[in-house]
Amino acid sequence: MDYFPAFIRLKNKKCVVVGGGSIATRKASLIVRAGGTLHVVAKKINPALTELIKESGGTQHIGKYKSDAISSAYLVVAATNDEKVNEQVSKDAHDQEVLVNVVDAPDLCSFILPAIIDRSPVMIAVSSGGQSPVLARLIRSKLETLIPVGYGRLAGLVGRYRDAVKAKYKHINERRRFWEDVLQGPIAELVFAGKESSAEEMLGNLIKSEQAATNSVGEVYLVGGGPGDPDLLTFRALRLMQQADVVLYDRLVSPEVLDLVRRDATLIYVGKARADHAVPQDQINEKLVTLAKQGHRVCRLKGGDPFIFGRGGEEIDRLADEGIPFQVVPGITAASGCASYAGIPLTHRDYSQSVRFVTGHIKEGSLDLDWDSLAKDKQTLVFYMGLVGLEHICKQLIAHGLSDTTPIALVQKGTTVDQRVLTGELNSFYDQIKGQGVVAPTIIIIGDVVRLREKLAWFS
Ligand code: SAH
Repeated sequence: MDYFPAFIRLKNKKCVVVGGGSIATRKASLIVRAGGTLHVVAKKINPALTELIKESGGTQHIGKYKSDAISSAYLVVAATNDEKVNEQVSKDAHDQEVLVNVVDAPDLCSFILPAIIDRSPVMIAVSSGGQSPVLARLIRSKLETLIPVGYGRLAGLVGRYRDAVKAKYKHINERRRFWEDVLQGPIAELVFAGKESSAEEMLGNLIKSEQAATNSVGEVYLVGGGPGDPDLLTFRALRLMQQADVVLYDRLVSPEVLDLVRRDATLIYVGKARADHAVPQDQINEKLVTLAKQGHRVCRLKGGDPFIFGRGGEEIDRLADEGIPFQVVPGITAASGCASYAGIPLTHRDYSQSVRFVTGHIKEGSLDLDWDSLAKDKQTLVFYMGLVGLEHICKQLIAHGLSDTTPIALVQKGTTVDQRVLTGELNSFYDQIKGQGVVAPTIIIIGDVVRLREKLAWFS
């Protein structure tokens, strides 16, 4: 270990920044955030820096750096673009035994600045020991995705109840177990979901009750897994997938996405291919309730967005009836995922002022849709589950007034490496794709915007 990792209290300490440009401003803003009093010496000081100086109650000195500028300072940062000056600041600081950081010159530093993930009061610092600040920043951005912004608020909540928990559990191990359960369970999730008062109420009740947190009811995360490309998952989806004990997933969840769930989670496949409902919907609903009641953290992972043709509403309806905590994580729906990856903007100022997501699912041999309102110009139609009914859809739209040369696209396995896009015109598309080996899942996009693909296609 080349450096001693520590967090320094700067409240009301004299901190000197030598330099007045944008790098100096960045360092200065951290000093001010930590409550230090900012004094700046520079030939020229930018206005943002002047604001920071005012905010912290410090001083500015416009002119050449001289050694006495850092006398009685607690900490010094040199951020000028003049190497000689930076060296001088470092030497003076070492002589006066003041902590010093020189930007981009680890050899001249007595301390270095880490990349940080700020979830105040929780603070995560990443350092490469000055070897590669870029690497430290890359690690930081990975961590940013895994650590919810709500951690700060969670720490605040814990802080408020620390004494009460201490009073209830005398032994440190008991307290540790209590907090581990709270911080990994529904209370924490309520905070992350922005429901802090419910979290506080639940925590208050838990402390009052005799029951240990470990026996508490589980929870359900209804998570949108997106159309296929795992890069399209949200931070929250990934985090919940990685903390779930049990994952119930659909056929539409791509193997790459499924690969990201916690290694030791139990995976349960619940269908559903067309007309082959591996597990009927009411049994899925029931299963979620049973598992949650057993105390499991259950992730119900669905393709796309759970609230768009995903029957997500029905599943959480049961949970709400049973008083089981749940949250819904939106996903990229097939329409926007496939359209983006096919280079087809769903709306466009010149061609389409609205977009409609329509189910093409045939029930009892027919499709009961308001064809008059669908067959309109300057509107984009996106049909989910439309492959089987494609011929019917095209014919109905033409019969209700849409031009028979209206452009149409079919996107198969959109956003994945197997994506395939076929385009044509409404009157001939059905015959055109026959014998082309089209397989599910496919989405159908109809409207003038489809023409833009010729120029805008980018993914292959
Ligand atoms: N909740 C999902 C939709 C479920 S309905 C969502 O928001 O995307 C299932 C239909 O979604 C499929 O029949 C197909 O039309 C469409 N779909 C889902 N993923 C797709 C993909 N990767 N490529 C093309 N269509 C897809």
